[in-house]
Amino acid sequence: MDINFAELSRQYKKYQTEYEEAALRALRSGWYIMGKELEQFEEDYAAYMEAKHCIGVGNGLDALRLALSALGIGEGDEVIIQANTFIATALAVMQNGATPIFIEADKYFGADPQAIEEAITEKTKAVMVVHLYGQACDMDAIMAIAKKYNLKVVEDCAQSHGALYKGKKCGTFGDAACFSFYPMKPIGAFGDSGAVTTNNDEVADSIRMLRNYGSRIKYKHELLGINSRMDEIQAAITGVSLKHVDAGNTERNEIAIKYIAGIKNPKVKTPEVRSCTYNTYHVFPLICESRNELHNYLKAQGIQTQIHYPISCHLADCFKDMGYKVGQFPQAEYYAAHELSLPIYVGLKDEEIQCIIDAINNY
Ligand SMILES: *Cc1c(COP(=O)(O)O)cnc(C)c1O
Repeated sequence: MDINFAELSRQYKKYQTEYEEAALRALRSGWYIMGKELEQFEEDYAAYMEAKHCIGVGNGLDALRLALSALGIGEGDEVIIQANTFIATALAVMQNGATPIFIEADKYFGADPQAIEEAITEKTKAVMVVHLYGQACDMDAIMAIAKKYNLKVVEDCAQSHGALYKGKKCGTFGDAACFSFYPMKPIGAFGDSGAVTTNNDEVADSIRMLRNYGSRIKYKHELLGINSRMDEIQAAITGVSLKHVDAGNTERNEIAIKYIAGIKNPKVKTPEVRSCTYNTYHVFPLICESRNELHNYLKAQGIQTQIHYPISCHLADCFKDMGYKVGQFPQAEYYAAHELSLPIYVGLKDEEIQCIIDAINNY
């Protein structure tokens, strides 16, 4: 059986009428940037996130960049980040002129609180935590450290829309939360878009200006801004995906339960789950000593898998001048060498799930 790693068309077909009505509404409005669709989305997403403010931006990377910038993080500042994340988290720090300080991951793929504390210097201004694969980091411990050392906390929620930690939404712990609506994320646009949520009025106000050339009033430029606006068509479409995010998270959790119950091969480990969390399962990360072989074995049977991520950030070519070394973060490097992501998405059929489980058990 051929099973693709992603099938965005299944989500599209499930809600086709709603998506098409939303897109047509935006197209027919005659207004395409910074209009009613964006206003509505921002209001709806702030409500979903139980946040005072939501600011729609062009993509997840810009959400991170603008949040850091609005928090006053720049030249000479250090920002602590787990090494096992998507490159965007670290690029956002660099692009503000600050320095990413990589640290070790914990056994739930999150930032290791003890490693955060050990990495703090006089220059440390913030911690960026990534709820990787949709599983919350150890937020009690991380918030306690941030409070003790007076650090800002930015949550990279690009994979964790609707995820919970002790019943509280990921993205409601720190000073700002950053979201990507890249099509494959738990809330997807049909193109690029992103958002920042925050309860801080000044941070919200700055991001609103920064995303639009640094201006509040047309042609009056108060800040050195950029152009990063969520357009009306994406806002309308993302609003439809927002309505169905909880259903999508439920469906992926049901698939995850089937994988965890069904996969019985001593060569393969299902992910460690922190019991106080509710995951989005943006990714279902298996751990396997012979990961590349398993990947090829599944591929030969028509089952596509992916690796998130094959190179830990501290070893990325673009950061080689920073002098990090192989072996410095054994847990993060272990994930890079042994993680394999299984298909997990809206519309994945029972027979497909069973086929994947059987293939892994026969490996
Ligand atoms: C997807 C992602 C981003 C970047 O989002 P884009 O919308 O692609 O710019 C940032 N951080 C993490 C953890 C991501 O998964």
